[in-house]
Amino acid sequence: SALVTVRDLVKTYGEGEAETRVLKGLDMELAEGDLAALLGPSGSGKSTLLTILGTLMQPTSGQHIMLGEDLTRARDAALTEFRNRHIGFVFQFHHLLPDFTALENVIFPTAIAEGRETAGARRRGEQLLDRVGLAHRMDFRATALSGGQKQRVAIARALMNQPELVVADEPTGNLDRESAEQVMGLIAEINEQEKTTFLISTHDEKIAAACKRQIKVVDGKTVSD
Ligand code: ADP
Ligand code: ADP
Repeated sequence: SALVTVRDLVKTYGEGEAETRVLKGLDMELAEGDLAALLGPSGSGKSTLLTILGTLMQPTSGQHIMLGEDLTRARDAALTEFRNRHIGFVFQFHHLLPDFTALENVIFPTAIAEGRETAGARRRGEQLLDRVGLAHRMDFRATALSGGQKQRVAIARALMNQPELVVADEPTGNLDRESAEQVMGLIAEINEQEKTTFLISTHDEKIAAACKRQIKVVDGKTVSD
């Protein structure tokens, strides 16, 4: 069944003569358990779409429904709560806090959202770092980790609240081939085992081929699947 549906999605930036229409009536559906690559030339609107699906920005018009909720009608506070509970993010650059350990990086966002750090959160953080193959690096500072390891910490952090959807914007864009394939392999494993839905923008054909679906954005609309 559909986890995410967007219909006739339009996003414009700027006003008047400077107005650029980036998404031009885009339709897309993600099913529960999808592992989908988001493809398209640079500037085609992939980041814009991921930002909207992540509820970090509202579309100019159109519908965005996730888990049966019409998010285009939600207020900011409701959106923040929805995002914290249901959506995880992975970016091209890991955005880890450099002076904190791998484990702290994984559990801090949840601790901040909940206003305290619970033993349960700590346990889940440890399990997740074990899950991404970093049990032996939990107490290493982020700066002492390799690029691939940092991105695996970022994946563990994204999974902390057991999100139904993880949006990943070029998650392997900054990695060498071997680390990129390791990170993609890990994402595929998590998708398989936890049924977490992933939408991953990428320019990398091998990464796209490792996904179950390929969704292409051309001229502000989805064209193929
Ligand atoms: P992609 O991720 O496919 O490269 P983006 O969604 O980043 O595409 O960008 C699509 C278009 O929207 C580009 O032309 C970009 O310059 C423009 N754009 C993106 N963000 C903004 C913004 N905040 N203000 C103005 N234009 C933007
Ligand atoms: P990657 O996913 O980046 O390939 P690996 O876990 O395969 O990372 O790391 C390869 C080896 O190099 C591991 O033993 C890892 O702990 C070690 N390593 C990489 N960078 C560092 C570092 N900055 N400090 C300590 N050990 C490191």
